[in-house]
Amino acid sequence: MPKKKDEETSLSKPHSVRCRYCGQKNNVKADFKNGDAVCGKCRLPLSDEPHKKFADLNKHDYVHPADSKALAALRAIPGIDSGLRKLLAVTGESAIRVMFTASAVKVTPKQCPDLHAKLQIACTTLGVDMPELFIQQNPIVNAFTGGVDKPIIVLHSALIERLNDEETLAVIAHEVGHIHAEHVLYLTAARLIELLINGGATILLPGSEIIKLVISLGVSSALLAWARKAELSCDRAALLVTQDPHVIGRTMMKLAGGTFASKIDYDLFLEQGREFKKTLEDKALDKFWAQVVNAGRSHPFPIWRVGEILDWVETGQYQELMNKE
Ligand SMILES: [Zn+2]
Ligand SMILES: [Zn+2]
Repeated sequence: MPKKKDEETSLSKPHSVRCRYCGQKNNVKADFKNGDAVCGKCRLPLSDEPHKKFADLNKHDYVHPADSKALAALRAIPGIDSGLRKLLAVTGESAIRVMFTASAVKVTPKQCPDLHAKLQIACTTLGVDMPELFIQQNPIVNAFTGGVDKPIIVLHSALIERLNDEETLAVIAHEVGHIHAEHVLYLTAARLIELLINGGATILLPGSEIIKLVISLGVSSALLAWARKAELSCDRAALLVTQDPHVIGRTMMKLAGGTFASKIDYDLFLEQGREFKKTLEDKALDKFWAQVVNAGRSHPFPIWRVGEILDWVETGQYQELMNKE
């Protein structure tokens, strides 16, 4: 057809491609094919394929049922919401902000602009106001979101060093997911309790005395049980941003296997995730988490998470959301 011929001619010259993620125009060589280069702004693989932005995403469209259930149980504790809010607003939020402003690098459009662009992509895709983003020198591969009314996201340096650009977007999107799913207040409280269990919160926060009280009231086990499940919802949010389940899968592989991951067989890793999910029922998992928390091990488990995300894709719910107008 003549039209196709025209298109071919125009593509045989150097031309520009608009980044699917951030919208930046990039000049490319005549023989450019999608994925051949990275975007000059966000550093993600350059492609003109469509990228869905969710105009009106409802958290109930993707939140994991285990998360909703555990959160409902948590909210049923009398006074917990207002209590935590009051406590963290007075002590935690300002302390967290001061601590990171003093000790970590703040990401701005000029400082680490590609990370800022990734944050912007995650926020515009899910429909969340931009939070502050910090990078902190820390050898533990991790990221977290904390705060009460003005959440902040912190990425550890080891995480950025280890992950590629798409995987970094997945982690940032996961954190933005916590904001979208309204997890942040409880997540902050859960993290403080974990720090306290591990003996680290006393140097961190003036409010730790009150947190001790929260623990003695028995809120902590409900809070920590929920926090594991909240991860599953935010992995789904990350998938809604990367729009490629294998980016989530490879991120989990690196979280599980470290830099050695380049030598790990990805398909076998996925199989391991599926097997794990099959063999451990939800009830057995709850027991397992309780032991894990008691042992002071707080980090979520990549094998479990990859099994869960594959499951979600296979139910068709992810595709349904992607097809929704
Ligand atoms: Zn871009
Ligand atoms: Zn998380």
